[in-house]
Amino acid sequence: MIRIGQAGIPLSCKGRTNKDGLVYTKQVLDLNAMEIQFVRGLFVMGDEEAQFIKDYSKENDVEMHVHAPYYINLAGDEETELSFDKILFSAKSANKMGAKTVVIHPGYYGEHNEKKTMKKIIKNTKKIHNMFKKEKIKVKIGLETMGKQKVFGDLDEIIEVCSNVKGTIPVIDLGHIHARGNGCLKKREDFEGVFEKLKPLKLKHYLIHLTGVLYENGNELYHLPIKKGDMPLMPLIDVVLDNNYNVTFISESPLMEHDAVYIRLQVEKAIMKRTGKEEADYKDLSEIL
Ligand SMILES: [Zn+2]
Repeated sequence: MIRIGQAGIPLSCKGRTNKDGLVYTKQVLDLNAMEIQFVRGLFVMGDEEAQFIKDYSKENDVEMHVHAPYYINLAGDEETELSFDKILFSAKSANKMGAKTVVIHPGYYGEHNEKKTMKKIIKNTKKIHNMFKKEKIKVKIGLETMGKQKVFGDLDEIIEVCSNVKGTIPVIDLGHIHARGNGCLKKREDFEGVFEKLKPLKLKHYLIHLTGVLYENGNELYHLPIKKGDMPLMPLIDVVLDNNYNVTFISESPLMEHDAVYIRLQVEKAIMKRTGKEEADYKDLSEIL
């Protein structure tokens, strides 16, 4: 199955609440995933809106995820408690909305070496998992692959944390992996390599962030529209379709839903190529499996 959506309230949606954004995502865009952004400080979501999102997304089969505030550091000394608060707050809302994942940026190496940072992040992620259990939060902790050298979270590191801590999944930000690897995702084999590395985690579903990205010396500078970046979509889509991977593509491009729709068109093009027909629906892969 392929799900597609965008991170945040669609730019073209007049209403500016998450509830408006969700309805628009389903009714106007005909997409079936959305990541709600709690990224500018702590965001308040009322119980009523959360309940609406839960019911609506369930009835209309839209998969929900939540992105916790950007500034989180599970490897720091002083910020850790504050980071726990931000994560717990986001996760409680996510739980109320029936979201599957709360996405977090794990942290920074700071003055610690990679090994020490890893230890701290594993220890603190375990603490978060225990807090979730205590609060009966059923949301998975999504650890995002990060696009800058000084930030913890290349693909191997994220996989290591996920293999050591229950209740976690990797959030595969391909734009970040591409930037950190100085443009390493170009060909089919490159994308196959990513899924190959993830194999030990035995994932049944992959949460994938997509955007174009401008980078320099293995560091992400900023996000670009997908077409302006140099990471091609087609080889990725081919790998996903050929292996029947269960994926959710979330557009994190500055063009947000426009690039989510672009992803959709590319997926449908790939399906049509396989069926030889002139129509396709990204939600129906029955003819090509
Ligand atoms: Zn992120």
